[in-house]
Amino acid sequence: MKIGCPKEIKPQEFRVGMTPNAAREAVAAGHQVVIETNAGVGSGFSNEDYVAAGAAILDTAEEIFATADMIVKVKEPQAVERKMLREGQLLFTYLHLAPDPDQTHDLIESGCTAIAYETVTDRNGGLPLLAPMSEVAGKLAPQVGAWTLQKANGGRGVLMGGVPGVAPANVVVIGGGVVGTHAARVAAGMGADVTVLDMSLPRLRYLDDAFRGEFKTSYASKGNTAELVAQADMVVGAVLIPGAAAPKLISRAQLSEMKPGAALVDVAIDQGGCFETSRATTHADPIYEVDGVMHYCVANMPGAVARTSTIALGNATMPFMMALANKGWKQACAEDEHLLNGLNVHAGKLTYYAVGKALGIDV
Ligand code: NAD
Repeated sequence: MKIGCPKEIKPQEFRVGMTPNAAREAVAAGHQVVIETNAGVGSGFSNEDYVAAGAAILDTAEEIFATADMIVKVKEPQAVERKMLREGQLLFTYLHLAPDPDQTHDLIESGCTAIAYETVTDRNGGLPLLAPMSEVAGKLAPQVGAWTLQKANGGRGVLMGGVPGVAPANVVVIGGGVVGTHAARVAAGMGADVTVLDMSLPRLRYLDDAFRGEFKTSYASKGNTAELVAQADMVVGAVLIPGAAAPKLISRAQLSEMKPGAALVDVAIDQGGCFETSRATTHADPIYEVDGVMHYCVANMPGAVARTSTIALGNATMPFMMALANKGWKQACAEDEHLLNGLNVHAGKLTYYAVGKALGIDV
C-alpha cells in the first residue's frame, strides 16, 4: 500500500501524522511511504529523517493526496484537503464529525473511507487514540497553571512547592480521569498540596489505592467542590461526560469566594469548559482575568509540546495504521471490533450512529 502523510495546515498545528519511526515500520513491511516536504519540521523531524527511514518526500499536498491509498494525518481534513480526497481512498486521522456538518457532508461526498482516531476503542472501554493527548494535556496543566500563578501574569504569586517554612500551593483537580490523574501527579511532583475530586467512587477508590499519599481524593459533591475551590490557589478542570458538553462546576458567583489571583486551568474547554467563565483561548494569548481570578483555557494544549505529542500519538496510532496497511481496512476492521468502531464514513455513507444522531443524517 502507498501511505501518504501531508503537512498539517490547520492554524497553530505543529504535529505530524507519521513519525520517521512509523515510516520505517511501514517501509519494513513492504509499503511505500510519501511525506509532504517539511511535514515533520514543527515536531523536530527533518525531510532527511524521513528519507533515512525509507520514505520519499513530495513537494505538495496535491501530490500526496493524488498518489496515496491511505492518508495519515493529525487534525480533521480542512476544506481544501477534503476536495482532494477521492473514492476508495482511506483516511486515518482525528475527525470530530458530530459538531461539524460541513466536513461530514464533504467526506460523504468524497466517497472515501474515513476512520476517526477519537472513536477507536480498546477492550477496557477506553479511547486509546485520545488518551495520549489527555496524558499530555494533564501533565501540562500544572506547568501552565504554575506560570499563570506568577505575579507578572496576574497570578497570586505562589510557588507550587513552597519553600522550607512556607506552605506549598493548594491545587484542586476536578475530574480524576486521564487528564486529572496526570495533572495531579505532576502537581504533587512539583511539591503542591493536591486534592482530586471525582463523581465516580470506583475511580476515587482506584486513585486512592494507586497513589496513596501522593495526593488526596474527595467526592465531587457541590458542597465539597465549593469548599475546596474557595481554598485553592489553582483549580484544574478535567471532567468529561462522554458525548456531552462539560458540566459547569464553578459559577461566576463562586469566583468572588476564591483567592484573588488564583489560577483556573480549564482543560475541558474543548468540550465547552467546566467553569461558567471559561472561553477558549490560544497559545498566542492563553490567559485572561475575570473577577480577579486568572483563567487559562487553551483548547489545543498538546500543540505547545508538538514533538512529545507527535511521538505519543504516533506510538498509539502505529499498530492500527500497520493493520490497515497490511490487511486493508475491510479485513483489519473485520478482525478488530475496536478499529471498526473508528469507521465513521464509507463509500458515500455515514457509518457512525452518534454522529448521524447529532447531525440528523441517516446511518
Ligand atoms: P476521562 O473520561 O478519562 O476522565 C473524566 C473524569 O471526569 C472521569 O473520571 C469522570 O468520572 C469525571 N467526571 C465527570 N463528571 C464529573 C463531575 N461533575 N465532577 C467531577 N468529576 C466528574 O477524560 P479525560 O481524557 O481525562 O479528558 C478530560 C477532559 O479534557 C475532556 O473534556 C477532554 O476532551 C479534555 N482534553 C482537553 C485537551 C486540551 O487541549 N484542552 C486535551 C486533551 C483532553
